[in-house]
Amino acid sequence: MSVDTLDKMNVEDVKSSQQAIDLEDKYGAHNYHPLPAVLKKGEGVYVWDVEDKKYYDFLSAYSAVNQGHCHPRIVDAMHKQSQTISLTSRAFHNNVLGVYEKYATEYFKFDKLLPMNSGAEAVETAIKICRKWAYEEKGIPETEAKIIVFENNFHGRTTTIISFSNDEGARKNFGPYTPGFIKVPYNDAEALEKVLKENKNIAGALIEPIQGEAGVFTPDDDFIPKVKSLCKAHNVLFMADEIQTGIARTGALLAVCGKCDCQGHCERQATYSRPDVLILGKALSGGAYPVSAVLADDAVMKVIQPGQHGSTFGGNPVAAAVAMEALEVVKDEKLAQNARRLGDLFRSELNKFIENHNIVTLVRGRGLLNAIVINDSEDSSTAWDICVALKENGLLAKPTHGNIIRFAPPLVITEDQLMDCVHIITKTLEQFEK
Ligand SMILES: *Cc1c(COP(=O)(O)O)cnc(C)c1O
Repeated sequence: MSVDTLDKMNVEDVKSSQQAIDLEDKYGAHNYHPLPAVLKKGEGVYVWDVEDKKYYDFLSAYSAVNQGHCHPRIVDAMHKQSQTISLTSRAFHNNVLGVYEKYATEYFKFDKLLPMNSGAEAVETAIKICRKWAYEEKGIPETEAKIIVFENNFHGRTTTIISFSNDEGARKNFGPYTPGFIKVPYNDAEALEKVLKENKNIAGALIEPIQGEAGVFTPDDDFIPKVKSLCKAHNVLFMADEIQTGIARTGALLAVCGKCDCQGHCERQATYSRPDVLILGKALSGGAYPVSAVLADDAVMKVIQPGQHGSTFGGNPVAAAVAMEALEVVKDEKLAQNARRLGDLFRSELNKFIENHNIVTLVRGRGLLNAIVINDSEDSSTAWDICVALKENGLLAKPTHGNIIRFAPPLVITEDQLMDCVHIITKTLEQFEK
């Protein structure tokens, strides 16, 4: 059959969830193992499946839709810009990029922004900037630079990034691996200090302020400030991957703000561990479009000169317009403050449940990035089975590594909605009580 005679199936022809699942199964690579929920519509904290069943979304596309599904202001910005000009390539200028760069650098208080698309690309960009800075500014001999990373990290899926993962599934048979990384235990400042003292040629440390994929592993309050001060003492770039934790998710504008009371607009306060390199993605677009960025001051960003790094879509007018609106929404709707208040409420409600039940051992997290640890062996299917039951009861969540379930609703959730969700979650967990 030639393409000329190919008949396209219409999306309206998909009448059942099973039909959609079968299509993906037959024609798509099997690189994910989704819950059997086929979503066709989203609005705020809700999503609907093909059978019109309504759910609370408690994953928020891994914290990309902090602003809620299809936020009207973000959709509008995207619509308007995509009808005017969508892509110009960086071979020319466009009239939106500079306005976005001014806004975002003032918002996060860095001198410069380098726009990319996916999170992994932004991490790769940070690694390249860090290495180049090491050779040209710190004076490390060429090709000798090492970057410190942390055990159980998740920074994306590219060949270099999976080289320093310790997740077997992410790594195995994708070698040979990119050299130049030293892995240190997370939440262990002494181990970090030892590595910094014993190794020459360390260029930077790349860290998640809370390890989301690892199971919302939340370090001690003084760990990130210690990482920051150790990096400073050893003239090593402190690079924060805030792709999942950033943009109000943890109850502050950035997780490196710590538990300060800036209510989301932290400005070099005592608890703020300001990164030398800040990596953003996910909610930078509110889930409307792939937008990521690396921010740094001139002293670091100046090492990148024309022709040395780029991306066809990076900094395109639609991405720039969407990101600006997504950041405005976070500010205008006080999403950091909401995440902080409702996150405290969520954990206190679940702790009440945990006191009288044994199916969950603990709840942890900050703001509205939380997880519960299920009281069963790591390789049991209990967490998965609970997520299937939650789905039946109208709430979508997914297990992360082992028997941990992450709960991360859109930050536009209201207190009433959150209490409704607490009810769904605790009633469902009761079904699994031993
Ligand atoms: C999701 C994520 C990434 C990768 O982002 P992609 O857009 O999937 O490439 C990197 N780091 C962290 C902490 C993430 O959560």
